[in-house]
Amino acid sequence: MQIAILSRNRNLYSTRRLVEAAKERDHDVFVVDPLRCYMNIVPHKPEIHFKGRKLEDVDAIIPRIGASVTFYGTAVLRQFEMMGTYPLNESVAISRSRDKLRSMQLLSRKGIGLPVTGFAHSPDDTEDLLELVGGNHGQSYVIKLTEGTQGKGVVLTETRKAAESVIDAFRGLDAHFLVQEFIKEAGGADIRCFVIGDKVVAAMKRQGKEGEFRSNLHRGGTASVIKITPEERSTAVRAAKIMGLNVAGVDLLRSNHGPVVMEVNSSPGLEGIEGATGKDVAGQIVSFIEKYHRHGKTRTRGGG
Ligand code: ADP
Ligand code: MG
Repeated sequence: MQIAILSRNRNLYSTRRLVEAAKERDHDVFVVDPLRCYMNIVPHKPEIHFKGRKLEDVDAIIPRIGASVTFYGTAVLRQFEMMGTYPLNESVAISRSRDKLRSMQLLSRKGIGLPVTGFAHSPDDTEDLLELVGGNHGQSYVIKLTEGTQGKGVVLTETRKAAESVIDAFRGLDAHFLVQEFIKEAGGADIRCFVIGDKVVAAMKRQGKEGEFRSNLHRGGTASVIKITPEERSTAVRAAKIMGLNVAGVDLLRSNHGPVVMEVNSSPGLEGIEGATGKDVAGQIVSFIEKYHRHGKTRTRGGG
């Protein structure tokens, strides 16, 4: 099989591992920087060029599209799809997962547990917004910028007054944000479930460093292997399916009202999860492609 990996950097751990896993299974594999692709839009014979040559007969494509290049990256992926290449994750599912509000609305519509979440645009009625989210629990809130990653722009406020101040500040910056109930009982930990198809193939617990409620490894958190419950397993698999993703990193918090989904990542990293669990996740991704690429379309389809 000819497999292309859409990635900006061939030296990243995840990209390297996917190349390695594909080679081990005797596939012809190469890395394509999406920003260096150019395309034509013509009826019936779409083409993609890369470094002066036409990319042809690619059987499958593994998108590793970073958040900062979502727009152009998904356009390149869509072009491959128009040419009949099998995408590990479809462009439409990746775009969907990059929009936090849309994702949460879709998940909640299907009954997936989520932290109670509010969002607003107008600067009025901050008090009522806080009431809407936190009416029935304490005074603590988590306020997050919808554009943030790696725990940046995620703030815990422990009083109503502090929440109001942070919201005022974010509004002053004209930033989009969410307000959530604080899941205190999660104890600064979350669970990353690595989903491939209809299985969680690996799971790790990330624990924030002492005194830190954010579990991100970039914020000094540590990862360890964890055994998840059947409910957590089915929540993660269903969340990926609802988003229309074959491969996803589903982050859960253990709350008093069962597992709640924090986010569904469409390009989950391999380094942390392979390191913590010792599993060959890259190999399992390539095996999945071997099994399903002939269907010519993605197995999983989401909606909305
Ligand atoms: P990012 O996309 O920047 O990683 P997240 O929404 O995943 O932002 O939040 C970062 C971390 O903060 C999470 O992994 C979790 O540990 C913690 N966290 C986020 N929201 C909540 C919440 N509502 N209750 C408790 N902890 C939270
Ligand atoms: Mg996160």
